Amino acid sequence: MHHVTDAGERFGGAQYIAGGPRVGTGTGTYSVVDPATGQTVWTYRTAGPADVDAAVAAAKAALPDWADATPGERSDALHRLAGALADRADGLARAESLQCGKPIRLSSGFDVPGTVDNTAFFAGAARHLEGRAAAEYSPDHTSYVRREPLGVIGSIAPWNYPLQMAAWKILPAIAAGNTIVLKPAELTPLTALMFAEAATEAGLPAGVVNIVTGTGREAGEHLVAHPDVAMTSFTGSTAVGRRIAELAAGTVKRLHLELGGKAPFVVFDDADPEAAAHGAVAAALINSGQDCTAATRAYVQRPLYDAFVAAVADLMAAVVLGDPFDPATDLGPLISFAHRDRVAALVSRARGYATVVTGGAAPGDKLAAGAYYRPTLITGAPQHSEAVQQEIFGPVLAVLPFDSDDEGLALANDTPYGLAASAWTRDVYRAGRATRELRAGCVWINDHIPIVSEMPHGGAKASGYGKDMSGYSFEEYTQVKHVMYDTTAVARKDWHRTVFADPRP
Ligand code: NAD
Repeated sequence: MHHVTDAGERFGGAQYIAGGPRVGTGTGTYSVVDPATGQTVWTYRTAGPADVDAAVAAAKAALPDWADATPGERSDALHRLAGALADRADGLARAESLQCGKPIRLSSGFDVPGTVDNTAFFAGAARHLEGRAAAEYSPDHTSYVRREPLGVIGSIAPWNYPLQMAAWKILPAIAAGNTIVLKPAELTPLTALMFAEAATEAGLPAGVVNIVTGTGREAGEHLVAHPDVAMTSFTGSTAVGRRIAELAAGTVKRLHLELGGKAPFVVFDDADPEAAAHGAVAAALINSGQDCTAATRAYVQRPLYDAFVAAVADLMAAVVLGDPFDPATDLGPLISFAHRDRVAALVSRARGYATVVTGGAAPGDKLAAGAYYRPTLITGAPQHSEAVQQEIFGPVLAVLPFDSDDEGLALANDTPYGLAASAWTRDVYRAGRATRELRAGCVWINDHIPIVSEMPHGGAKASGYGKDMSGYSFEEYTQVKHVMYDTTAVARKDWHRTVFADPRP
């Protein structure tokens, strides 16, 4: 396998500030590595504090005009951006597959069209930001609500869906009249930079969208602590989310934290067994399991358990690992060799307390040069074990049996996370109970993974708070201001009695 190795060269630097690229001034360099081959794609200078300061200053300078633009003007700009992204769909998909190792079927069929659709959604939403009714809630006043932009938004994104994460952060922020500085993951800056280029081409004013590419410690922490940043929106691990919450406390920033997940997949005994087995394998393996909502723990009611394990094992064994650029490939590598080794170490430890039914190893031969790991099915892991409680973020599914409905739902809720969950049943009452009782930001019935731009994405418990996509995320990027008008024109108002002793004339 040999993929493009100079994909980063054309950017002219990994920083995109005030409408154009620049070379960073951070302390080091960082390399984008193709995880399918181990080849370096691009080595760039990282962002240092001075680059973050320059990007925040550019966003601050662009803010007044952008905030004053009419919703219709911002909507027009986002419609043009959707067009510019669609025009470069092929390049975006290739860059995403190159830097992440994603199968091209996934990047061209999900990441890119999802991003174009999200952009079109927020182009529409820009014209639909509403307050509550204006009314006389006191007999002497008229009240109404203004929704105003917050200011400069600082966003930090992970490497698993770099383009979609950039879109989910940038679009609601700028649709609402804010400007933004986004720090993509240092492993995967290519498509965020392409997104910023497309924004400039679409006519968004310089400074509305800025990208700083650097490490979390050097660039990320400086962005979070920056006094001119009004809100931090972060998607990534729960551990880093905690650190960000500490840092944001210093400037009392608004926070939006989309953190880790450990989604349960609950199969009741009346479920369609074929649908459940196919659904589990697809939902566990999408993006090589590096998906915060991926199915990671399947709880299967005892009568279906043995058949489910056998069907999942067969389906996993038939999945084709290969070159991400080959349309026949089902599963690419993990994001990096270091991450693959973390997943492998966890599965090795699991052999001490559980059974690895299939997978549990890196493939050899021509895939040995990449960060590949075979789809892995684990049974017999206790509920409290690492494989069931910790986020693995790899193509690994643990399957556990349960007896009563009470037990299945209790086990599903028994981790610190609460991002997503699914229940599989043809009984409307069981489905209703599951949707009420599963503690998660999203519950699917008889499916697991699909998302739509109109609906919110975000978690509960240690999976964080705040929503991406949908009108809910849009509103989070605004400040609600209550405006109250006196309607009486009376100089000495009745309520002044509380302060002035003299009676009213
Ligand atoms: P990560 O937390 O290691 O890194 C995420 C981002 O934070 C990167 O840009 C990184 O550079 C930055 N960062 C790291 N340390 C930082 C610090 N001290 N200060 C500021 N920024 C810092 O996560 P990752 O490994 O890139 O991504 C995987 C994680 O993301 C998983 O836990 C996954 O569940 C989560 N995720 C969550 C969602 C969601 O919507 N809830 C979506 C995708 C991924």
